[in-house]
Amino acid sequence: MEESENKRKIIKILFPQPLPTPEDLEKKYPARKLIDGTMITRIAPSPTGFMHIGSLYTALISERLAHQTGGVFYLRIEDTDKKREISGVSNLIAQALEHYGIKIDEGETASGFEIGQYGPYKQSQRVKIYQTYIKFLLEKNLAYPCFSTNQELEEMRDMQESKSVRPGYYKQWAKWRDRSDEEVLNALKEGKKFVIRFKSGGDFDNKILIQDILLGKRELPENDQDIVIMKSNGLPTYHLAHVVDDHLMGTTHVIRGNEWFPSLPLHLQLFASMRWQPPQYGHIFPIQKMEGQSKRKLSKRKDHEANISYYEKQGYPTDAVMEYLLNLANSNFEEWRKHNPDENNRKFKLTFEKLSSSNGPLFDFNKLNDISKEIIARYSSEEVYCKCLDWAKKYDHQFAETMEKNLDYMKKILNIERRGGTNVRKDIGKWSNIKKEVEYFFDTDFNMAIDDIAQKLPGINPEDINNIVDSFIKSYNESDSKDEWFEKIKKISRAYGYADSIKIFKENPNKYKGNVADIAKIFRVLLTGRTQTPDLYSIMLVLGKDRVLKKLSVFK
Ligand code: GLU
Repeated sequence: MEESENKRKIIKILFPQPLPTPEDLEKKYPARKLIDGTMITRIAPSPTGFMHIGSLYTALISERLAHQTGGVFYLRIEDTDKKREISGVSNLIAQALEHYGIKIDEGETASGFEIGQYGPYKQSQRVKIYQTYIKFLLEKNLAYPCFSTNQELEEMRDMQESKSVRPGYYKQWAKWRDRSDEEVLNALKEGKKFVIRFKSGGDFDNKILIQDILLGKRELPENDQDIVIMKSNGLPTYHLAHVVDDHLMGTTHVIRGNEWFPSLPLHLQLFASMRWQPPQYGHIFPIQKMEGQSKRKLSKRKDHEANISYYEKQGYPTDAVMEYLLNLANSNFEEWRKHNPDENNRKFKLTFEKLSSSNGPLFDFNKLNDISKEIIARYSSEEVYCKCLDWAKKYDHQFAETMEKNLDYMKKILNIERRGGTNVRKDIGKWSNIKKEVEYFFDTDFNMAIDDIAQKLPGINPEDINNIVDSFIKSYNESDSKDEWFEKIKKISRAYGYADSIKIFKENPNKYKGNVADIAKIFRVLLTGRTQTPDLYSIMLVLGKDRVLKKLSVFK
């Protein structure tokens, strides 16, 4: 009797403020009504000022799974680790999700207000909720206050190391686990700093069988560590907070990084001690990259591509990043896209089966660029213009100005080899490529050194170049159709000893200096400074007579 009296006193000292009861909370957050197979998933980032591409990957997978089944995907901000937190960042996460078209049904939205019935969705605003359950565990003798100082914990670690025993706060090492209520009361009266630990009933020598949705059947040792569930500042640790939240918020599937897999026995124990049904867990492999011959995790410190802001700065369309991630998640996405070139990628059905076979997806820039080129090739010139302008307004002001000043001209330039024609250009992988791809349309004072020209047109006599340009200028008519234009190029070819078709040239190569493609190349190089460009006729048409003649006259 006296013992429970003292215990009540302890709990009163630990939690002097009134708290809701577990029953209150069950009433406030009733179980969600689910139809068979409906998934409730979430993304639960800690606001560190940095969003890893791996978090976007996990968010995409979780969102698609929820929405494919008519379920709910929500955003929960795990901001109880004050050391890691940077203020104002939670909204950046919501904004990033919105930017990439990952729709949240609940949580704090990009514009800053919260939606959903299970909030608040920010852990720092749920402290009383966690304390309710910490108090419950104390009452059930499944938790206890621990007054060990940092120095004592360090000494314990040293001792464990010297004896070569497993590190941690467990069994005989758990100094405050079985202290009497009097001792605890005295420590509290002395004002000693404390944390609250979970009192584990596990035995490390026992193995538990785990069915992970992604890793499959695995065995792990039971947890016997008396892990901290409430820190000295009154805030919960991740272990406790996520268990409470995933229960009250009705999560059915937790998809999270596989660094949490070893803690799963602890998390299952916490669920059991609250008498709650745990959600299903799926632990996802981190995205990796090749370094030399070996694979390693994408590193926040070493790899710029680990940070999602990198893709925005580079100007990858958001669709390209999303489709690349879908491709990493389910390798059959590529085949699906091939057969459904115009479908919204939401029609693609993401599966756990395909996900689990991809152990440690490998980041591949070539693949991202290829996907991005295909996606940009599907946009109209209007879309390319608008999306590129949005990008330039943020990352290249000067180019944005050029684009706005030359709106019609830019749209014509961007319309060369666009959708609908037989040849669609697939050489643009990101918005930051466009400036370079269109520069020759703007540099009317373009002045290429003779040496440069000679290098790009090897084997062509400079005198011939002069004469060929001269003949072209004389016969050039801006309103020629493509066929008429090409006939003229063929005629010039014949006049200067070049075959007017590649076929004819190949039949008798010794008879000619070259073929019609070499003649076209002269104009390509002189007008653009390059040996490879989209369709030359279209380029001349867009440049217009004045610019064409001005550029060519430099070489006459
Ligand atoms: N806040 C945890 C993290 O950022 C979330 C893990 C989870 O999804 O449960 O790693």
